[in-house]
Parts: sequence; structure tokens; C-alpha cells
Amino acid sequence: MKIWSTIKKDIYSLYVHIPFCEHICFYCDFAKVIKPKNDESINAYLDKVDNELSTYNNKFNSLKTIYIGGGTPSCLSNDQTTKLLEIINKHVDIKNIIEYSIELNPESVTLEKLKIYKNYGINRLSIGVQTFDNNLLQKIGRQHNNKKALEAIELARKAEFNNISIDLMYNLFNQTIDNIDVDLDYIKKIKPEHISWYSLIMKENSIWGKLKYNKPENDELFDEYVNKGLVKLGYKRYEISNYSKKEIYNSVHNLSYWKSDLFVGVGYGASGFEKIKDKYYLTQNVGNVSKYEKTFEIVEENDLYFQIIMMGLRMIKGIDISDGLNKQAYLHFKNQINKNIELGLLDLKDNYLFCTSRGFDVLNEILLTFL
Ligand code: SF4
Repeated sequence: MKIWSTIKKDIYSLYVHIPFCEHICFYCDFAKVIKPKNDESINAYLDKVDNELSTYNNKFNSLKTIYIGGGTPSCLSNDQTTKLLEIINKHVDIKNIIEYSIELNPESVTLEKLKIYKNYGINRLSIGVQTFDNNLLQKIGRQHNNKKALEAIELARKAEFNNISIDLMYNLFNQTIDNIDVDLDYIKKIKPEHISWYSLIMKENSIWGKLKYNKPENDELFDEYVNKGLVKLGYKRYEISNYSKKEIYNSVHNLSYWKSDLFVGVGYGASGFEKIKDKYYLTQNVGNVSKYEKTFEIVEENDLYFQIIMMGLRMIKGIDISDGLNKQAYLHFKNQINKNIELGLLDLKDNYLFCTSRGFDVLNEILLTFL
């Protein structure tokens, strides 16, 4: 048997997808549907999630993180939220979970709901702010304004959440450096522990993608400006698009993706990375909200190593090449790695392989040399 298939890997993370949204944003291509008016459809969906989780009995013993994403998990009513969290409790021993996150949209945050999250052990909120500029919010099809975003963050603090992440986007249409300055000013005031600040991605299946809109070509300019601005405010970049006030606020769940750890995804549209009988699989729940099934795509050895390199180099710290599968990936791609080190794009120190600052700017080009 090959070494790569015998290395032990446990499931550390669980992703639960809630696909309901009150409205559809123009840029979005996530698995989502408009929230049904009747409770039955939502309850039926939650029952399906319950059934799906039952199929993982005994496989969640090493689970460290749970992430409820969407869609818009916060658009569930209080009763639906309680039902969802009870279901998760039934399958997971919450006391072993170190990071339990839920995504919120500002317009559906209430103090009551936040208290429910807190009671069920959720300890991290990820709030979809996107920008604090009201004109831009309207242009991208969001329902909230900056006042709502501030209120949501204030309520979260009132409910004693001390690990709040906000999602922001840059390179939106007609967005200028002045807009970024406004966002940075808000950040200075509200001091979230964590920030994910992504460039707009134009996906084919989004409303804008279908209209064949082209994305503005200013990524590099914004990327550098955002990075400098956040560093000035005391944030540390630990992944291409993610920053935190202190290392303890780095997202453990997202790090598990970048470290190519195994994770289970449940719910319509969710994906996962699983190991079954010495083989690795990418899973994808396909179908629709009322009927979906899990598909399994085998990950071959070369693809697995490429995934480890591709995801791992997104982290500033890089890849621990002394560790299990990472070591195999390093040995597999040693020639390409050495060439990139010679070019000053990658570096290797204390068993970590990472991008130099020049390498970070051309990560996609580096990855092409591994294909
Ligand atoms: S971006 Fe979020 S809130 Fe907007 S449609 Fe997509 S999943 Fe729903």
C-alpha cells in the first residue's frame, strides 16, 4: 500500500449549509434559494440535514470546528434556529468544539437570535458587511445599509460575542480608494477581531455573470491598499485575504481548509473532503433544496499533493513540510519547489514552505509550474 493512503487523518471540521436567503445579491453564485414562506419546507430541509448527519455516526469524535454558512443562516426564525442547533447537538459533542461559527447578514440579526446562538455554544460570528458604503451596497444588491451593519455588530457585542469577523469586498464597480478609506475608518471604530476582505469574483452563475459583466481590473491596486491599511490598524495578515487582531482569532475552521484537513459538508450544495477506506474524496451535495445527494469524486495522489500546495501557499506561514501528507507533497514536487525558491518566489525555513512577498503577488503563476 502507498504511504500517502495510509497516513492517518481525522475529520476536524464540519460545515453545515443553510441555503435560504431573503434576496439574491447580484454577484452571488453560492447554493441558495429565496427563503420559502412556509415553515414546513424549512423544517423538512432541517430534517434532511439531521438525516445526513446521522450517516456520520462515530466519525465526529475528533471534530474541532463547526461552521454554519449559507445562504443566510441568520434568516432562520428563532424556532428554526433552535431546531437546527438541537440537531447539531444531537450528532456532535459540542464541549470538544473549539470554534463554532455562524454567518449572519446584518438585516436579520436580533438580540434574541444572538442569545440562542450563545446558549448553544456558538462562539464566533461572521457578519456579511461587504462594504460600509451605502451606494455600493445598493449596487451589489445587498439589503442592508451601514447603519444596519453597525447595529448588528453592536448587538453582537451586547450579547457578549468577543470573536467577530466581518466579510468585506473590494474591486466592486466604481469603487475607489476613497471608498476603501471609508471602510478602514469604520474598522478603526468597530475593531472586529477578524476580517476577511476578498476581491469581487465574477462567477458565471451569478446575476452579473449571466449578464456577462466584466470584472474591473484593479485587483492589485486594491489588494496592496487594503493590506497596508489593515496592517496600519494593527491587523496581521495570515492568509491572502484574511486578517486578525491576534493569532487566537485566526479562523481555525478556515485554516483546516487551507491545511487540507478532512472536513464534512452537509446540506444542499455543501462540499467536503473525506477519506474512506484509504482513499480520498471530494464530496459535493448536488440536486436541489428538497432533494439532494452526496457525490464522491476520487482524489488521485498527484491531485491531492497539488491541493496541499495550492491551498497551503495561501497561508502566510505556509506549509509544514515535516507533517504527514505535506511531507509527501513536498517530496513529490521538490523540483518545482526548488526552481521557485531559486527565483525568489518561494522560501523554506524551519520546515515551513511559504511564498515570499514577491511570490504572493504571482501565486497563480507559481501554481502553474506545479501542473
Ligand atoms: S451573497 Fe449571501 S446573502 Fe447574498 S444571495 Fe448570496 S448567499 Fe444570499
